This record gives sequence, C-alpha cells and structure tokens, in this order.
Amino acid sequence: MSFLTYKMTAFLIFLSEYFVIWVLFIFFAPIFKDIEMEVITKIADLQKKIADLRAAGSSIGFVPTMGALHNGHLQLVKRCVEENDICVVSVFVNPTQFNDKNDLLHYPRTLDADCKLLESAGCAIVFAPEVEEMYPVEDTRVFNLGKVAEVMEGKYRPGHFNGVAQIVSKLFDAVRPDKAYFGEKDFQQIAVIRSMVKLLNSPVQIVACPIVREADGLALSSRNLRLTPEQRKNAVNISQTLFKSRTFAEQHSVNETIEYVVNTLNAVPDLRVEYFEIVDGDSLLSVKEWADSDYIVGCITVYCGEVRLIDNIVYRHR
Ligand code: AMP
Repeated sequence: MSFLTYKMTAFLIFLSEYFVIWVLFIFFAPIFKDIEMEVITKIADLQKKIADLRAAGSSIGFVPTMGALHNGHLQLVKRCVEENDICVVSVFVNPTQFNDKNDLLHYPRTLDADCKLLESAGCAIVFAPEVEEMYPVEDTRVFNLGKVAEVMEGKYRPGHFNGVAQIVSKLFDAVRPDKAYFGEKDFQQIAVIRSMVKLLNSPVQIVACPIVREADGLALSSRNLRLTPEQRKNAVNISQTLFKSRTFAEQHSVNETIEYVVNTLNAVPDLRVEYFEIVDGDSLLSVKEWADSDYIVGCITVYCGEVRLIDNIVYRHR
C-alpha cells in the first residue's frame, strides 16, 4: 500500500467511526430526551405529563421534600428511581406546616443546586410550584389523624401535622404515585402519613427509608446548614448519646434511660432538650416498661441554639 492510500484508508475509517456515532445518536436521541429531567411548576402540566406516562405503562414513585437537598433526601430518591419507572420529586417549602414564622423565614431554599443533584440521581420530574399554585385559596381542612398526630411533635408543634396532611394530600392528588418515600428521621411523620392514607382511602404505598447520618453520627438535616461550627460540634452529642443509651437501656428502666439522655444532653453547651419520649413504634404511645412492646423507639427533639433538630433510635425491633 502506498503512503497516500494508507492515509486515505485511515481517513475513511476515521469518518466511518463518526458516522456510526451519529447513527447511534440519532437512533437513541428520543430515549435520551425521555430521561432528561423536567422541572414543572404547574399542577395541570404535571397531571398531563403523569397521565401520558401512565398511559405508556410507567409506574410512578414520588419523594416529597422541602428542598435544600442532602444525601438523606438523595437516598430516598435513589430507592425511588430503583423501584419505579419514573421518579417524581417535589421541592416545596410548605407554609401551612410551620407553626414558627421565624423557622419558615429562615428555611434554606436552593432550587438550582437541588435540581442538579436530582438530575444526577436519576429523577425524571421535579415539581417545584409557587405557594399560590398549591394554595389558590386558604386550605381550611382539618384531618382527623388520631393519637399518632397528637403526641410529641403534635404537642410541641400544634397544627404541624395538619399542615403536613394538607400538602401531602394535595401532592398525592397531583402526582397519583404508586409508591411514596419518606425518611425515618421524621419517624412520627411516617405514622401520620400512614394514618392520612387510611383516612383518605388513598391507594399510595408508603415506603419508609432508614435515617442517613454524617460520618460522626449526626442525622442529616437541611437545618444543619444553620448551625455555627461550634454548634455543629456540640450537636453530635445528640446521636452519640442516643447510641450510648441503647447500651445503658440494657441495665436500666425506661424512666432511667429517659433521665440519662435528657440530663446528658442538657449538660452540653448550646443544647436544650424539648422532649425525649420512649414509645411504641406503631401507636407512638409512651411505654412504661421495656416488656410493654416488641417495637420500641426513642424520639427526641433538641434545640441547638435556635435550630430545632430531631432524631430517634430504635431500642427494640421485632
Ligand atoms: P424535608 O425536606 O425535611 O421535608 O424531608 C423530605 C424527606 O426526606 C422526608 O421524608 C424526610 O424524612 C427525609 N429525610 C430528611 N433527612 C433525612 C435523613 N437524614 N435520613 C433519611 N431521610 C431523611
């Protein structure tokens, strides 16, 4: 082969490789288009999109969030992506569940960064409506969610769970998911959502996902962003004390364990325990003795400076 023919052949191979790539691209373009994440802000647009997907036979998974996403949220999204054809994530800071105006005002909002994270996690649709879209008129519905909504958070944040039920029921109506994913960090919230689903005869399957923690044990939370470096150092005592209380509980009564956790944490600078209750994991009613139930969870809320943090620990699981 002369040098010229050799060069020509090399050039043709080079061109044909590009040709194959172009053919592949044109062939697969519609598929790439389908998996490109869409950000939707209107309920009607979301409903139309979901109806089309359902008509094409897709199953729909849903993760409701208030944004400022971290790895805790992303683990729910990951599971949702794995278990459904389409994963929908809502990002909406719901005003009706905040009984503290200051908390609502300071809640972090990072939609652009959230969308980037969600896209790389495989989310197909982000629903990010304005408040007026979700509440065109005042929502005056009062949900009868039973005892699970009255204890602990229900006592310290009156109206909070009613607001959660208002928004989650509206979101379920808009998305009509097969499955919805919630984190066990908000342990009581899952019980409340299950109660709401029963109340409304909703067909949505509720999936509970484990708490995701920082390497040192602090439960991931959007509110952690508001801690000063000093407060962040002190906040780690919450999870560490809960972990230690599991060993403590082996030799002590329920009341002694409560005292141990509360006194240990109140002795740490910046920390103030709002409540720590040891409850039956289903009814959320206090247990008096370890033998009272085969599913026992300790639920805690602690103020770290101005920031309200929650966490929980399982003492017994059947
Ligand atoms: P939020 O944006 O705080 O309303 O949380 C949205 C969902 O993410 C809720 O179901 C939370 O329970 C869940 N979630 C938040 N933080 C964590 C975490 N550290 N581990 C597991 N789930 C979490």
